[in-house]
Amino acid sequence: MIPKLRGHHLICLHFFKGEGYSEEFIKNIYNVLKNQKMKVADGADDICTKCPNLVEGKCASREYSDEDIRAQDTEALRLLELEPGMVVGWQNIAEMLPPILDEWRARFCNECKYSKVCFG
Ligand code: SF4
Repeated sequence: MIPKLRGHHLICLHFFKGEGYSEEFIKNIYNVLKNQKMKVADGADDICTKCPNLVEGKCASREYSDEDIRAQDTEALRLLELEPGMVVGWQNIAEMLPPILDEWRARFCNECKYSKVCFG
């Protein structure tokens, strides 16, 4: 089955370096990333399902509201020119990143606690 990924995960997980909220969460990310294709999710995805922050289908992270996260998803999909339900190759997304990454980082990465993990 093709895993479902929400907008911001389609960008952020290209920089995943094995860190996360729990062992189960991290293991699940590795499993999802073994797939060549991803389906664009609207809201909670196959990463969120193993996240301790997912409460009743919504992100209850301490850092971001569900609304903030959804706004990130919307912006990621705008930059990638994708829509929920589309199936896209993981490598194709990697190739789309260079021209959009500066804008993405300026908008979202400065305040993200994983920014140092992703970009050093
Ligand atoms: S923090 Fe929120 S958006 Fe991120 S994986 Fe967990 S539930 Fe999903």
